[in-house]
Amino acid sequence: MIPTVASPTLITVDQVSKHFPLPDGKGEFTVLSGVNLTVRSGEVIALLGRSGSGKSTLLRIMAGLIPPSQGQVLSNAKPLRGANNNVAMVFQSFALLPWLTVQENVELGLEARGMKREERHQRALKAIDIVGLDGFESAYPKELSGGMKQRVGFARAFVLEPEVLFMDEPFSALDVLTSENLRGEIDDLWNAHTFPSKSILIVTHNIEEAVFLADRVVILGANPGRIRGEVVIDLPRPHDRTHPRFASLVDYIYTVMTNPEIEVSGQPAVAVAPTPPVLSPYARPLPHVRVGGISGLLELIVDQPQGGDDISRLAERLQLEVDDLLPILDAAVLLDFAQVSQGDVCLTAIGQDFATTTILRSKDLFRQQSLNHVPVLSSILHTLREKPSGSMRADFFLDLWDEHFPHEEAERQFATAIDWGRYAELFEYDASEDRLYLPATPEAS
Ligand code: ADP
Ligand code: MG
Repeated sequence: MIPTVASPTLITVDQVSKHFPLPDGKGEFTVLSGVNLTVRSGEVIALLGRSGSGKSTLLRIMAGLIPPSQGQVLSNAKPLRGANNNVAMVFQSFALLPWLTVQENVELGLEARGMKREERHQRALKAIDIVGLDGFESAYPKELSGGMKQRVGFARAFVLEPEVLFMDEPFSALDVLTSENLRGEIDDLWNAHTFPSKSILIVTHNIEEAVFLADRVVILGANPGRIRGEVVIDLPRPHDRTHPRFASLVDYIYTVMTNPEIEVSGQPAVAVAPTPPVLSPYARPLPHVRVGGISGLLELIVDQPQGGDDISRLAERLQLEVDDLLPILDAAVLLDFAQVSQGDVCLTAIGQDFATTTILRSKDLFRQQSLNHVPVLSSILHTLREKPSGSMRADFFLDLWDEHFPHEEAERQFATAIDWGRYAELFEYDASEDRLYLPATPEAS
């Protein structure tokens, strides 16, 4: 049921930005920038983005749990003030109260709305029935498996009969079979027109899940979080995973997500915010992967008959989540060890060399590529070389990252840079003194 333009708009996100103060107290960290989105009656929207791209923040703003810094949210054409009563949320963490039974957990939201006991009771029983938990009404959460806990999570949202159901990575905490099962049941309810809300907005970092469930996939870019565009899933429902178009949509979205510069083609219903020019090398985030992870992946790819691989098959073969695979691919692309296009990854000549050579030469290659393609590593090296002592307090560098990232992320950037710099033998880090040093015999660059 793909809605038409005539379908009523339930929620409008209008030029929403969100900033949080930076730990240095001077600046702000922009999590979302100029986001526009509409949720219409009768549609399932997947909001797809990597972790940290601001998906949960956007959902919380749309639910009225936190205010935007700029812009506004309209719910049924009225500006949203406070909590949005037209939505209910299913969380990844289930968020059940352990001291209440299944029935009491489900009734909780109705009680908060002041509904009478008998009606509450009847509605909760109905919701519990829909999610297949008949007979478990008086069980406590600790007696339930993860899948059953999340069924309670769904029942608690269903019972509110929200216009729009929000789900924030609802299947991510479950094992593969359980999540597959529950995802299928949710899809069945929707396809049978027995779903207790008019629309669904699901946040996910799983591309296949997005293509399976959604009528359109809205792709969020990071740093700052902004909408890059959307892809319409023009498949009959239920979306058949063996349909060739399913695979090509998944491939296309993989390509988009591994290439931040690509403009998303499809229905450009949303404006693509221009990426601000990046000046400082410390503003460009390093993907958080260890060098061993990069060489491991390249070795796996180079072993493939054509020296290349389809990314979704690769993820499947490695039993890796997209979130784990993409940063490794990013690092390989950043270092010019690999190229990604049309959902395929293939190694460059240097990448093939790196994957197959001796450890000594692979260090040389890694150093060469780091200095040529990772400005922050050459910047650190130059700073150290300018000091007669060849050493510098780590804080100095951490402060530079702090200007661009929340403190925790700044620390992770530092740790990743140290890992890469050490492997390349560009510099050393002494944790007890918290200082960086040039190696004993500095390498020529
Ligand atoms: P996602 O759900 O896509 O993984 P989030 O919306 O949870 O992303 O977070 C996006 C970014 O915003 C992250 O870098 C996170 O650290 C930051 N962030 C989220 N909430 C806050 C907050 N209350 N204060 C400071 N930073 C925050
Ligand atoms: Mg999140």
